[in-house]
Amino acid sequence: MADNRQVAPQSDLARPLDEAAIREFSSKVRGELIRPGDDDYDEARSIFYGGFDRRPALIVRVKDAGDISQVIGLARESGLELAVRSGGHSVAGHGTTDGGVVLDLSEMKNLELDVEGRTAWAESGLTAGEYTAAAAAHGLVTGFGDTGSVGIGGITLGGGVGYLVRKYGLTIDDLISAEIVTADGELLRVDAETHPDLFWAIRGGGGNFGVATRFQFRLHEVDEIVGGMLVLPATPEVIASFVAEAEAAPEELSTIANVMVAPPMPFVPTEVHGQLIVMAMVVYAGEGEAGERAIAPFRALAEPIVDMVKPMPYPEIYPPEDEDFHPTAVASTMFIDTIDRDISQTILEHLRASDAPMRVAQIRVLGGAMARVPAESTAFAHRSSRIMVNVAAFYESMEERAAREAWVSHFAAALRQGEGGAYVGFLGEEGEERVREAYPESIWDKLADIKRRYDPTNLFRLNQNIPPASKQ
Ligand SMILES: Cc1cc2nc3c(=O)[nH]c(=O)nc-3n(C[C@H](O)[C@H](O)[C@H](O)COP(=O)(O)OP(=O)(O)OC[C@H]3O[C@@H](n4cnc5c(N)ncnc54)[C@H](O)[C@@H]3O)c2cc1C
Repeated sequence: MADNRQVAPQSDLARPLDEAAIREFSSKVRGELIRPGDDDYDEARSIFYGGFDRRPALIVRVKDAGDISQVIGLARESGLELAVRSGGHSVAGHGTTDGGVVLDLSEMKNLELDVEGRTAWAESGLTAGEYTAAAAAHGLVTGFGDTGSVGIGGITLGGGVGYLVRKYGLTIDDLISAEIVTADGELLRVDAETHPDLFWAIRGGGGNFGVATRFQFRLHEVDEIVGGMLVLPATPEVIASFVAEAEAAPEELSTIANVMVAPPMPFVPTEVHGQLIVMAMVVYAGEGEAGERAIAPFRALAEPIVDMVKPMPYPEIYPPEDEDFHPTAVASTMFIDTIDRDISQTILEHLRASDAPMRVAQIRVLGGAMARVPAESTAFAHRSSRIMVNVAAFYESMEERAAREAWVSHFAAALRQGEGGAYVGFLGEEGEERVREAYPESIWDKLADIKRRYDPTNLFRLNQNIPPASKQ
């Protein structure tokens, strides 16, 4: 992703932080303060995606809810833009700010597992990988996404679509309660009985309503899975049949299929490098033999180019990552109903028409447990959508960017079906119209009303923003 904001982020009334203000503030917080000129400033201001070269006035590595309340107070009183960061994977670069304050949760990683009761209280600075490794030590899981370094803060508040989506639903479907510091600095416990409106809103409404200090999740018993990477040749027949098989598969099986150019990686045979492939990640959340049976139809679609699907402990779905990897990319997210042979052909034609070093159409077949949760019970609005598609092109220089943007936008337009729709977790900085696509009007209006009550001045605005409704 890359910075393409046109507007100055600070409010006209913002007051710069002088030395006295910083000194006074530092006496009130336990966490570390990092400022321009500090040794670790450059590392502390960077986020997962490259291309966001923003320079915050202050980064606070908060330690507890009290610190969070203080940072919120500082932002409120100074008028400075507030960036809230958990794992720093915001596709839109919302985890950093030019001239504002970053509330960095990455040191809040406490995890209390109630193994008997099958629940966990997790501080929001944990990553999906850290939480998963700790829970798996007891044969337990909560589903997050496909990448271990994603923060549980951002993914939970957006919804959470991952390898257990068909078996156990979205991440928010396992959210029992949360603690949140709101714009007035107050710490609230929210669940189905206490502040039910806020509990509804944070399950899909993103970071609009406050800073979540910790979440209480439900845990499921999943020990060994059958999973891993299956690479197939990308033909229209293989793509369409893959989608059909993924829809027909038992709910234990969730898949993420990347139609892309084969990278020159050691596990991919040299003669396939540069050709179009389906690089699929599959997870069968259950016993070995049933898993092998569920995966057999996919293996039968064509002679696999790579088959690394095997019984494994669940946390192996999150392999080690390179911390220095900061890609720049343009992407577009949507929900669609069907991928038949013709649409698969369209996918392949668009992928062939670009020369981006890495370009991809990612297909996630949904359904199962996610679709059974009543649509109105959370702010996540696409329960009945059958397929999520993300198209993306990576680029290396700003000169390339316009061409990649044009390609992504044509490709997305060619795939769009009906209303479209968008997953808030994969939206870039694309404007209010696209944020509205994440929420149908009735949900948008309800979120805007809750926003008016909990954050009337739109303090939490550096996000996929839902502005407060004007008072009736
Ligand atoms: C490589 C990659 C893979 C991904 N895979 C998946 C996937 O498989 N499934 C999926 O559903 N999504 C996926 N995503 C999208 C991801 O869920 C969102 O980008 C999410 O917002 C990232 O969370 P974060 O905490 O890492 O990001 P951050 O940049 O730290 O946070 C993103 C935003 O969330 C809000 N936020 C974060 N923490 C808090 C908090 N504690 N309180 C209040 N607001 C908060 C803020 O508004 C912030 O701007 C992926 C993203 C990337 C980059």
